[in-house]
Amino acid sequence: MSAPMPPNGSLTDARSGQDDLVFVDEADAPSLAGATAAWRILVVDDDADVHSTTTFALKNVEMQGRPLEFLHAYTAQEAHAMLRQHPDIAVVLLDVVMERPDAGLQLVRQIREELGMIEVRIILRTGQPGYAPELEAIRGYDINDYRTKSELTRTKLYTAVAAAVRSYQQLRALDANRAGLEHIVSAGAQLMSLHGVRDVAQGVLRQIATLLGQEPSGVLCVRESGQGRPDVLQVVAAAGEQSELAGRELSPQRHAALAAAVGRTLGARAGVHAEGWLSLHFPGKAGRDFAACIPFERAVGDIERRLLDVFASVVAVGLDNVELVTHLNQAAFRDQLTGLPNRTRLVELIDALLASPKRSSATLALVDLDHFAETNDALGHHFGDLLLVAVGKRLKTRLDPRLEVARIGGDIFCVLGDAGSVQPAAIQALFRVPFHIDGQDVQVSSTIGLVRLVEHDGSGADALKDADIALKRAKSQQRAGHFYFSRSMGVEIRERVRMMHALRSGFQRGELFLAYQPQVDLASNRAFGAEALLRWRTEDGRLIGPDRFIPIAEYSGLIVDIGEWVLRQALAELVRLRAAGHDRFTMSVNVSQVQFRHPLFVEMLRRALDDTGAPAEYVELEITESMAMEEPALLIEKLAQVKRTGVSIAIDDFGTGFSSLSHLQRLQVDRLKIDRTFVTEITGSARGSSIAEMVIQLGRNLGLSVIAEGVEDERQAHILRSLGCPLAQGFLFSRPLSPQALLEWLGNQSLIEAA
Ligand code: C2E
Ligand code: MG
Ligand code: MG
Repeated sequence: MSAPMPPNGSLTDARSGQDDLVFVDEADAPSLAGATAAWRILVVDDDADVHSTTTFALKNVEMQGRPLEFLHAYTAQEAHAMLRQHPDIAVVLLDVVMERPDAGLQLVRQIREELGMIEVRIILRTGQPGYAPELEAIRGYDINDYRTKSELTRTKLYTAVAAAVRSYQQLRALDANRAGLEHIVSAGAQLMSLHGVRDVAQGVLRQIATLLGQEPSGVLCVRESGQGRPDVLQVVAAAGEQSELAGRELSPQRHAALAAAVGRTLGARAGVHAEGWLSLHFPGKAGRDFAACIPFERAVGDIERRLLDVFASVVAVGLDNVELVTHLNQAAFRDQLTGLPNRTRLVELIDALLASPKRSSATLALVDLDHFAETNDALGHHFGDLLLVAVGKRLKTRLDPRLEVARIGGDIFCVLGDAGSVQPAAIQALFRVPFHIDGQDVQVSSTIGLVRLVEHDGSGADALKDADIALKRAKSQQRAGHFYFSRSMGVEIRERVRMMHALRSGFQRGELFLAYQPQVDLASNRAFGAEALLRWRTEDGRLIGPDRFIPIAEYSGLIVDIGEWVLRQALAELVRLRAAGHDRFTMSVNVSQVQFRHPLFVEMLRRALDDTGAPAEYVELEITESMAMEEPALLIEKLAQVKRTGVSIAIDDFGTGFSSLSHLQRLQVDRLKIDRTFVTEITGSARGSSIAEMVIQLGRNLGLSVIAEGVEDERQAHILRSLGCPLAQGFLFSRPLSPQALLEWLGNQSLIEAA
């Protein structure tokens, strides 16, 4: 032990009947080094905020008439050095998780074993219940208290530190006699090594008997809330003549004397010796105090009394920790609201299933409540909570009882077990009967994502991710439906993520470029403009189509930067074409929804026009029809702003979305682009021509220009001409071209004309 030992004061024989137990009387004890000096409290935490809130919470308080002095360490290593330097540190407030997840517990081990400091009191603090350290670790090292940080309010922190300081003071007072001290500490450690409250309680009775030099006897009780009825005194452990009371309630009639003694102790919150019963009080958390009552006739010596008090404080921590850790473990694996296993526990269950032969026939289903957020908003969180509890209960009680039912967050439940019992139809059928909550019937439906574990080759956590992918897919397709995960879905998603990275770096490396497809006047076959189309040639020379990478660019937001680059590139090309004499040429540029919605879109457009010097009246933006139909008010306003810059607007892929005509009239668009599928159709079926025809008529009625896309052969061009379609674009006239090829193509056209 590194603490300097005060010279022994007078030693008094504790009348314990045990020769090796000798205690020093406190009054006679040499004053501790600098009795009026401050209690040193070492705060060990890697979070600076915790240091400041701790010192703030305990600012200017005195304990046992002495102020507190704080030392601060931010790593376990620093703390170790400080403990070495200041052997008189009274209390360590220790973070469990620091540089390593077990840094705090390692330090405890060093304090107790390597530095041999057995008096310093240790209060463990943890960020969250999920980090509950191993039970074994807590049991082994005489830890004074164990709390979650959120639990430690200012008063609780004060109480915990004050109790620790008191305990430290008592231990120091007894320090003169190592044997007695070690007995108590080892008694505490021994108690901690027992599993469960009952075993610890039994151990407490044995230890008291040893301290008092008699055979084990008496009871250890806790006051349980009677939940409506009067509180009851529950016997946790019993020994000797009282042993038949173990596990029973104390009857105030039949066990009058004992019940009175327990009542006195809990009422006084202190040990009492009266009417043949010697009692000890063990303060517990949340008012769950324990009392031990032992039949004891002879007088209790002063030293004995103090010894028992120290013992009680050590034991109280033990009892409490056993309860608390059990509780924390419970919290770490159970959903507090429904009592069902939570995500952590579920992952364990899946892992176990994956490792068992049952894997071949097991299915995991995620059950998501449809529109739960709306219900929650509309009817309140309390109602939402009740609904979740009811859903959990119904899943648990109405499905095959061998299935595991868990709640893994928000409104997502999980059903795990034999595929025969995890049937989406059966699960969804459970939701057909309304839930009766707070006097109301509520109907909810569910959407389900499933994974067959036999097809799964990852961990439990991966299986959950896969189920989530299937669930997302199910939700995107139809509410109240279900979807089984297939390996290709996982591959698809990984592939998309891979492509997102490749696109980002490809864009930076200059792998993107534009091709220009001429647009012609059908009457003269002369080009009047071109559409800029984005191309991506990857490092290894592969050409990836915009249909594949544009959705990814949109999804990742990269489209905003790419889109600006496309616009500037196309405008610069327009300026070059004009310089080459094509001064009435127009340039169409595709704009994606994400880009268009960007708050700075109009500003970006204006700057691009300014910087390149391209004339706005020769620029056209293509937006898709589906976009034109969303949020009409916003869109109308935005289109008006765009129009004010002087550019015109075309609706791309017209006919594929769900345009309402009245809506279309209010949008300030200039041109409709008939989608290629309708152009292809016009030569096939007689009926197919009607859509293209309808669009052409619509354009005429609304005074809009119309262009047909994807014209591939003369027959199509002929029919379009006869329907009165003025403009076209397609492979018949030209494929998309490089800037150089476009110039040549345009040159050839003039030559043909001239000829
Ligand atoms: P889109 O805007 O409808 O473009 C027309 C597509 O039809 C182009 O495909 C073009 O190459 C193709 N095409 C033209 N004539 C014919 C034909 O006669 N037959 C056939 N089979 N196809 C023809 P591409 O270049 O693969 O572009 C696909 C889509 O990607 C575009 O459809 C557009 O929605 C999008 N896109 C292309 N470039 C950009 C861009 O810069 N920004 C944005 N946001 N989207 C772009
Ligand atoms: Mg287009
Ligand atoms: Mg199109």
